[in-house]
Amino acid sequence: MKAKIIDGKAIAAELRAEVAAGVRELESATGVKPGLAVVLAGCDPASVSYVTAKEKACAEAGMRSFDIRLPADAGQDALLERVRSLNADPEVHGILVQLPLPPGYDAQAVIEAISPEKDVDGFTPENMGRLAIGRDCFIPCTPHGVMELLARAGVETAGRHAVVIGRSNIVGKPLALLLSRKDANATVTVCHTGTPDLAEHVRRADIVIAAAGRPGTVTGDMVKPGAAVVDVGVNRVPDATRERGWRLAGDCDFAACAEKASFITPVPGGVGPMTIAMLLCNTLQAARRFAAAGARGA
Ligand code: NAD
Repeated sequence: MKAKIIDGKAIAAELRAEVAAGVRELESATGVKPGLAVVLAGCDPASVSYVTAKEKACAEAGMRSFDIRLPADAGQDALLERVRSLNADPEVHGILVQLPLPPGYDAQAVIEAISPEKDVDGFTPENMGRLAIGRDCFIPCTPHGVMELLARAGVETAGRHAVVIGRSNIVGKPLALLLSRKDANATVTVCHTGTPDLAEHVRRADIVIAAAGRPGTVTGDMVKPGAAVVDVGVNRVPDATRERGWRLAGDCDFAACAEKASFITPVPGGVGPMTIAMLLCNTLQAARRFAAAGARGA
């Protein structure tokens, strides 16, 4: 194996320790203890485990977490009502509605009900729009985590060609915006299901970001020698050697890509841990703004 493996777990732990220090500092200076409300409708097992992990991380960082659970059939109006009451709660600085919502909900309307100042996922049109025009905003956690991983691993982005595979609102699109911003200064190509020859684009990439949600999307022969490969994908693939019958895999053929790349992120243990770390960063940022607005008497 030639590539240096980017240890997302270690980098996320570093960030979480920085957030915990920031939380202590903010609380002692202003009396404001950052608070994150996590809203879960229904009991989808994957969502329950994500929500539990987020709440645990909050507690470890010294933040307050508010665990709001609604039955799957609570309905759109009840969910909107909860979001509105959290918008008005001064102890809550960040609000996260766990997606996907059960069938019958209008997720976009729920996202749009979140106050932009508490939108620590960065999914509201206000924050997405601000990201697009280069204004200060909450950056969606997974793309934010990818940028932080690249920076902390020492992967240069300026003047390099980045190929982003995927154009979703939560990963691909914000990543393309972040990489092309002046501070990152990469030249960006966005590939998606309408791209006729994915391999042709990936072969020209100095940085490959795979967020397709399909194992085997990036094979070793597509990777330019020395490229950095960031694998955002999280897929369950059958594995008879495991008792549970499956394992997690990314979108890239890890072993083959690692032979060619200079840097690579593993799955699990790469981008995944960064998502929660960035959620904590965004919540601390929201609480700092709240404290500053209070000090200004706003
Ligand atoms: P999505 O399904 O909304 O979007 C996938 C995108 O990939 C689409 O834009 C589609 O056009 C593109 N795509 C799919 N197959 C392709 C192909 N063969 N060639 C080119 N483009 C293709 O998914 P998403 O929400 O953006 O998530 C992407 C992946 O990242 C999933 O595996 C998801 O589980 C994972 N994810 C991980 C984290 C994390 O914290 N690690 C967070 C969010 C998403």
